[in-house]
Amino acid sequence: MKLILLGAPGAGKGTVAKMLTELDGAVQISTGDILRGAVKAGTELGKQAQDFMNRGDLVPDDLIMGIMEDRLQEDDCAKGFLLDGFPRTIPQAEALKELLARIGVKLDMAVSLDVPRDVILDRLTTRRTCSNSDCQAIYNTKSSPTKVEGICDKCGSPTIQREDETVEAISHRLETYNEKTAPLTGYYEKEGLLMSVNATSSDAVVAAIKERLGN
Ligand code: AMP
Repeated sequence: MKLILLGAPGAGKGTVAKMLTELDGAVQISTGDILRGAVKAGTELGKQAQDFMNRGDLVPDDLIMGIMEDRLQEDDCAKGFLLDGFPRTIPQAEALKELLARIGVKLDMAVSLDVPRDVILDRLTTRRTCSNSDCQAIYNTKSSPTKVEGICDKCGSPTIQREDETVEAISHRLETYNEKTAPLTGYYEKEGLLMSVNATSSDAVVAAIKERLGN
């Protein structure tokens, strides 16, 4: 399957993408994970992206398209991909359309995960992420806590609250989302590719996507 997952930060795109990778070997491509990896590794890309990310602003479109141009042509994308956190702006969506046409790849659909704002705020402020960049398991202090407080169940590294998950940074990320990313649902509706789902439950989202794709 070749899908775009749209939705506000905290809508569950990463969780749904991970569940979908188990169905047919499609790979999850998260621009946020790629950027965090670059920041951690101290690469040129990471240095250019870091300040935008810490403020809760979007990283410039040309940096993102540079990443995706290469990533979408790697061999593991042949089976399918789940785009998680990309595209985030209309210019990114237009550049993606041009890129996919050029490399001869057809999208199945863009799935919009719809979640009320109060649920999003609650989810993000209680989210914890494994600090090990090879693991990056996600927990929630309320709904899916670690067995030992502050320690990842999978790899034993400390879990952390991301710098862009403080209340101020989250409010700013949600404003940015409303202004720059929310218009993408209209864009994909016009393209005839939009599927909107109530995303309060990730299991229900996965079931709805499977049904739509006829799996
Ligand atoms: P995420 O983990 O998807 O919430 O992304 C974390 C941060 O990385 C965002 O707040 C942005 O600063 C940056 N980022 C991730 N994906 C993109 C994108 N497609 N366009 C611009 N900035 C992005």
